[in-house]
Amino acid sequence: MSDASNNADASNELPARVVESFGRRVMVRTSDDGAPVPAELFGKRLSSVCGDHVRIRLPAPGSADVARVIEVSERHSLLQRTDSRGRAEALAANLNLLAVVIAPQPAVDPFIADRYLAAAHFGGIQSALIVNKSELPEAATPQFQAMLREYRQAGYPVLEISALADTAASEVLALLEGTSAMLVGQSGVGKSTLTNRLAPASSRLTRTLSDATGEGRHTSVSTALFQVNAATELIDSPGVRDFAPPPVEDAQVQVGWPEILKLAGDCRFNNCLHLREPGCAVTAAVAEGSVSARRYESYKRLVNLMRTLAPAYQRRR
Ligand code: GDP
Ligand code: ZN
Repeated sequence: MSDASNNADASNELPARVVESFGRRVMVRTSDDGAPVPAELFGKRLSSVCGDHVRIRLPAPGSADVARVIEVSERHSLLQRTDSRGRAEALAANLNLLAVVIAPQPAVDPFIADRYLAAAHFGGIQSALIVNKSELPEAATPQFQAMLREYRQAGYPVLEISALADTAASEVLALLEGTSAMLVGQSGVGKSTLTNRLAPASSRLTRTLSDATGEGRHTSVSTALFQVNAATELIDSPGVRDFAPPPVEDAQVQVGWPEILKLAGDCRFNNCLHLREPGCAVTAAVAEGSVSARRYESYKRLVNLMRTLAPAYQRRR
């Protein structure tokens, strides 16, 4: 990846990977096993997030300058959320698995899980559910198991584990192997515990930037990518209280619900939003129980949420 001899013009430019981002300052790696070096985005128009493939220009030998990111490559996927001003904010690029972690404790808010899953669909990212703390008796209740069944029926892989078990790392790795994955979910579900099980501490020493600024000590305020093994990357992100996918138009919301999207072709109207339209195959499936009423409710809630975001969404055009 960083073979300097490929650099035909022998310039001081190199391909690199953003492994940590912190506003306009990033840490980049020029090879999979190389130590991260600091870099700054060049020019106001560039923006870059963890996981981006970029080109950097090295500072002149002996200069005190840091490397500059001069180009960001096209992303094959992008995880975004809605920021506090109702605008799309990129969180991580080139992910191919979003693993939504839930647990019987703290109580699951399935709407948060659904919004993460929807954001994965909107961003072109596969997703799966990791059910942690499955050794707790609460995980065996009919209600909890019924919820897991709804996710399996919708088409998501659902992996039940306990981060405390010796087998946890290998079970999770079987799901993540060969991917660039990110663990997300409500705080307290066990993401840090799992991350620590998966990655040798040394591979996480890459998180240097937030420490360097003095703002990030002891808490992860930045998003950082580290290598679990040669083929597998894990992106570690700060915990969030709530999450909303980026603003999308009404008709796009169903892209976040595979079980709804699958039926949309059978609706009488091809622009059916599956709300109150006659001849809707989705509401019929909900009525007869083949689509989960809870998942459908969550779809309707996101349609409404997106409509409240719409004014901000329109203004940006
Ligand atoms: P995070 O906020 O998602 O990063 O969650 P943490 O990793 O900090 O875990 C929250 C709490 O749950 C900690 O006290 C962990 O020790 C505990 N915990 C994590 N995994 C498990 C598990 O599989 N079973 C049980 N019983 N507790 C767990
Ligand atoms: Zn419909």
